[in-house]
Amino acid sequence: MGKVAREIAKLDVDKLIQMLNEALAEEWYAFYQYWVGARVMEGPMRSEVESELLVHANQELNHAVMVADRIVKLGGIPILNPNKWSEFAKCKYEEPNDPYIEAILNQNLSGERCAIKRYEEIAEFTNGKDFSTYQMAITILDEEIEHENDIEDWLTDIDRMREDLKKLKL
Ligand code: FE
Ligand code: FE
Ligand code: MG
Repeated sequence: MGKVAREIAKLDVDKLIQMLNEALAEEWYAFYQYWVGARVMEGPMRSEVESELLVHANQELNHAVMVADRIVKLGGIPILNPNKWSEFAKCKYEEPNDPYIEAILNQNLSGERCAIKRYEEIAEFTNGKDFSTYQMAITILDEEIEHENDIEDWLTDIDRMREDLKKLKL
């Protein structure tokens, strides 16, 4: 971290680096949750949702890039060993044992809700104190909110489809 950068940071930089490394581990989990979930998924709307899940996966990877770059700029070291991800991540990875589309989407949904809380926390911690990290947190937060919204919409549509099919059988 540069001289002026250190002087202007009005917060506990070590604590911030710890939070960012936790977020970094969570982004890798989110990436893989989407990436592998999209591949094993079965059920209605599969072909439509699959490509969108892979778009989300790439966005999670980009979040990991942003967070890791920020850790380095703050003078920290991004987690160097993937074995450490489980120690750092507060948002847990959920093995997609059930390939049904709703089960996959619900796993991604709980990941997104956890990510929203994570970036709220980082934004609150840095607000008015470290503008660069604050700006990054808000940028990522906006995308996590969009992800949550996308998934809720797909789940609503699948539910609606099921209700419509029930009515047809009457
Ligand atoms: Fe993310
Ligand atoms: Fe996300
Ligand atoms: Mg989307």
